[in-house]
Amino acid sequence: MKSIPRETDFIVVGAGVAGLRAAIELAEAGRVLVLAKRELSESATQYAQGGIAVALSDEDDIGLHLQDTLDAGDGLCNPEAARILVEEGPERIQELIDWGTAFDRHGTKLTFTREGAHSRSRVLHAHGDSTGREIGRALYSKARTLSNITFSDFEFSTDLSLHDEHVAGIELIDQSGGTHHASASAVLLATGGIGQVYSETTNPPIATGDGVAMAFRAGAEISDMEFVQFHPTALYVRNAPRFLISEALRGERAQLRNMEMLRFMPKYHEMAELAPRDVVARAIVHEMEIIPARDPVVYLDLTHLSAERIKSRFPRIYDTCMKYNIDITTDMIPIRPAAHYAMGGVRTDLQGKTNLPGLFAAGEVAATGVHGANRLASNSLLEGVVFGARAGAAMRESLRAAKDRTRSNCITPAPI
Ligand SMILES: Cc1cc2nc3c(=O)[nH]c(=O)nc-3n(C[C@H](O)[C@H](O)[C@H](O)COP(=O)(O)OP(=O)(O)OC[C@H]3O[C@@H](n4cnc5c(N)ncnc54)[C@H](O)[C@@H]3O)c2cc1C
Repeated sequence: MKSIPRETDFIVVGAGVAGLRAAIELAEAGRVLVLAKRELSESATQYAQGGIAVALSDEDDIGLHLQDTLDAGDGLCNPEAARILVEEGPERIQELIDWGTAFDRHGTKLTFTREGAHSRSRVLHAHGDSTGREIGRALYSKARTLSNITFSDFEFSTDLSLHDEHVAGIELIDQSGGTHHASASAVLLATGGIGQVYSETTNPPIATGDGVAMAFRAGAEISDMEFVQFHPTALYVRNAPRFLISEALRGERAQLRNMEMLRFMPKYHEMAELAPRDVVARAIVHEMEIIPARDPVVYLDLTHLSAERIKSRFPRIYDTCMKYNIDITTDMIPIRPAAHYAMGGVRTDLQGKTNLPGLFAAGEVAATGVHGANRLASNSLLEGVVFGARAGAAMRESLRAAKDRTRSNCITPAPI
């Protein structure tokens, strides 16, 4: 039976993109315990398909990425958080490449695709439509080289523990149902989203909002929970999970058709299928309402693309749809919107600090205000690396400051 340390310097709850990136940042400052409630490989990060947005192509610049992020956020972004995201993004992506992330390339040049509400092609992808899995793989491999990091899977964190109003550790249930306590100088919540609160969601079963609940019970501020993004295009097969059909298909000119096979997006928005997600999701719901059907859906049509291109660009989507006898090279894909991403969560500053001393949050569980009311496609993996690194740096600093305080309290005044 494995045993986890009862006492460590830092606890990171979550092994998705945000938790892994933070752990790497923390490893030089002390012992880091990274926990996951199921297998380490089970996170939203692993399912992210379309890619990671970054202003690195020749036709792009940081100002344009910022403007698209602010526009998609419907005037409710924290502009400073959005500026940090786009400005620090390129450096974090270079780091991912240095750590072995194999983004897709034409020859030696990175290939960028376009997604909804982006004014430029700026979305990097890996293995076609397995970007999150590849980023997670590279971060995990990097973290495994750092001896200060300990991983433990199937450890379900249930609550934060407080000492003198300072978060001082967590309560856990292990696989056998036993309860434990682990203490640390600082705790990072990187527990991901809340999608499973909804009956129709693209999120994996781990996305049950545990981090928000734990933080709330401990007295942390929660904000913007009303902003939940519904992804316009989740595969609709009755009684099957709502597998995501990436926006990148629309970036490759896939069209939406209603039950009468008519294309409808141009009448809702000038960017048509590439309008912001909230606009597309609302348009689909409207079309499902005005054409009566027992099981309403709309269709995504990419049959104009060559079969070869579809299979090489979207291998995971192709294989998954085939399991339901939908051949996306010849058939239209039945889709419906589904709950996808929580813009709100545990309120933090731009360093991932919450209002509770010792408690930090990063990634989807956090609310920095970076996405406003509506996240720009492919900005959340970027958020994970940018704000995961920032939270890690702030936790390092908090430990250093605590050690300095202890040292200065121990200095004996010189005899007069
Ligand atoms: C199908 C799908 C496709 C997506 N595609 C994209 C995309 O192309 N581009 C993009 O930018 N974003 C995409 N997203 C969104 C993006 O993947 C997520 O927002 C991001 O990966 C969240 O990362 P995270 O590190 O915050 O959390 P996650 O990756 O979800 O990791 C959460 C971790 O917390 C752990 N955990 C949770 N609760 C507990 C608990 N109580 N105790 C212990 N551990 C716990 C889990 O075990 C897991 O390790 C997609 C999301 C989905 C669902």
